[in-house]
Amino acid sequence: MKQRVHTLVTHAAELLTARTPSGTAARGDELERLELIVDGALAVDDGRLVAVGTTDELVRTFDAEVNVDASDRLVSPSFVEPHTHLVFGGTRHEEWEGKVLEANRPTIDAGIRSTIRATRDASDAELTARAVRHLDDMLRHGITTVEAKTGYGLSREQELRLLEITRTLPHPIDVHATYLGAHTVGPEHLDDRAGYVQEVIDTLPDVVGRAAFCDIAVDPVSFTAEEGRRMADVARRLGLALRFHADQTGDADGTALAVEFDAVSVDHLDHVSDAGLRALADSATVGVVFPGANFHLLDMTPSRLHPDRGARDLPRWAERLVASGAALALSTDFNPGTAPSTSMPMAMQLAARLYRWSFARVWHMATINAAAAMRLEHDRGSLAAGKSADFVVWDAASHGEIVHRFGSNLVRDVYRGGQLLVAGGSVLARS
Ligand SMILES: [Zn+2]
Repeated sequence: MKQRVHTLVTHAAELLTARTPSGTAARGDELERLELIVDGALAVDDGRLVAVGTTDELVRTFDAEVNVDASDRLVSPSFVEPHTHLVFGGTRHEEWEGKVLEANRPTIDAGIRSTIRATRDASDAELTARAVRHLDDMLRHGITTVEAKTGYGLSREQELRLLEITRTLPHPIDVHATYLGAHTVGPEHLDDRAGYVQEVIDTLPDVVGRAAFCDIAVDPVSFTAEEGRRMADVARRLGLALRFHADQTGDADGTALAVEFDAVSVDHLDHVSDAGLRALADSATVGVVFPGANFHLLDMTPSRLHPDRGARDLPRWAERLVASGAALALSTDFNPGTAPSTSMPMAMQLAARLYRWSFARVWHMATINAAAAMRLEHDRGSLAAGKSADFVVWDAASHGEIVHRFGSNLVRDVYRGGQLLVAGGSVLARS
């Protein structure tokens, strides 16, 4: 007598499980050992994975109400996206063209001011509708869990408004809201940094129970390590889980501070010091990197006006991160300024090209490691019995094709909690 389950997926050309021996983020050499099952199968019941194995093994044990034939297709975990700035108004394409042409247009910091203005000016309904469109776009690219930050309100009232919009978004993607009042100094406090830090601290009690995380940016263009510590101390005392933006535009000792506060993740790391990286490698904190931001900020492209500038040695930087033994994850960094992309496959494609990372590395970092960057690796990020049935059926037979191809979306079907949300590349209608 076979065990009856709801859904049985069989004959996957490759079933990419992303399972790791530790059950959590792959590090160092482990990153190269990606588990692939040829002629793979999944049994799904009540929204969870019941069994993962070969088609031979699973058809002997199970029969199902719904049978999915994945012949000639890759099946992988769906993506966990651990860093987005999802809710915002306006667009910054004109400012960006100025950067491309090296014309005299606003800097990144001036750019964020325009997003703050446009976000404050937008109604709740407008911000919600736009965020839902972005979430649909993410879903079409195989993302089923998203971390989403506030950070374009930058006053107590506006930040709490954005937090409320974020945590109540009507969408089947699982959205985890993060309070990022400490993105940069709010416009009313440009001459009073201490006053703004105090405003963030005073807002934190109202964030408890509403946000999954508190994020603090420690960077030469945002907050110092000392300011970050003042805010992190209060957040920790209130029991908020912490994440950090750190050391993107220069070394500000943000990485070491994040590790000291047992942050869930520390993100960017472009200018992390050797001491900061050693601390990260010895911790459970996950470092999140953004090839899409490096690409969009033209880090690889020499300046026309100053040919000696630009063209950072990203492969060397990226190898230093991996060689340290730190747990690392990929993310889109979706935001209107430095990374306007909702595609995790694109982040993987760019990581291979800009960082010279292998297929196995980028797949681990976009799945189980990205789940660890939200402390969700017990439930998401790999295909293993007992986990949420969150997976993608691809219009390709091999995991390598997803990284090799670029500029087209090969996601075919997306399931979250065993439920089909994208079919044949289209988001299914919701009631
Ligand atoms: Zn960010």
